[in-house]
Amino acid sequence: MIETQEWRHERERMVKEQIVARGVEDQRVVDAMMRVPRHFFVDKIYAHQAYNDYPLSVGHGQTISQPYMVAVMTELLELKPGDAVLEIGTGSGYQTAILALLCKMVYTIERLSALKESARDKLDRLGFKNIAFMTGDGSLGWPQYAPYDGIIVTAGAPEVPNALIDQLAEKGRLVIPVGSELYQTLNLVTKQRGRIFRKEIFECTFVPLLGKQGWKE
Ligand code: SAM
Repeated sequence: MIETQEWRHERERMVKEQIVARGVEDQRVVDAMMRVPRHFFVDKIYAHQAYNDYPLSVGHGQTISQPYMVAVMTELLELKPGDAVLEIGTGSGYQTAILALLCKMVYTIERLSALKESARDKLDRLGFKNIAFMTGDGSLGWPQYAPYDGIIVTAGAPEVPNALIDQLAEKGRLVIPVGSELYQTLNLVTKQRGRIFRKEIFECTFVPLLGKQGWKE
């Protein structure tokens, strides 16, 4: 059984204390965070920590992001039900599930096929039908389905990849951590009448984006 009363209580506490109390206001994002069973996306040995206020290991040296970070990055995208979103760094698939509840289609890329397969299996079991998966270098985007109304990068890049700017729709929003391999600043990049605007949100720490327009492997 995926869901129990106890997990639901844990999730309510997480949403109230870590998400709403810290200023996330978009009710659709709050509702999505309330619906997705985060404990299902982590290894069984970490399940009892799934609703705590920090990232957790998902194996292969990678992490599932802190719940608050997932909520803020999602809120910054300002997603509408008809939107198409590109996600770079599928990881556990947890952020993918939140996005899939809020838009029409999610295109998600993960460079490690073992993580992609595990995420795909979990998202299939939860019944999601609006997610396309790819194993590969997400720093190059996924040109086939561009342009995207939203692009979210859940790994830290040295710079905003040009490929992602090119694949962002007019009025689109791109959320990406930019900085060194250890520390970054969350950036919001928007495109209006072909012009690019960039705003820094706050400091953060993500695993590196490895690839042609990321850090060298
Ligand atoms: N959003 C994920 C979740 O909810 O579990 C967490 C993602 S984790 C912080 C970052 C992920 O980005 C890792 O799984 C890593 O393998 C992946 N990654 C790093 N560089 C990548 C690239 N160039 N293309 C695709 N995925 C990449």
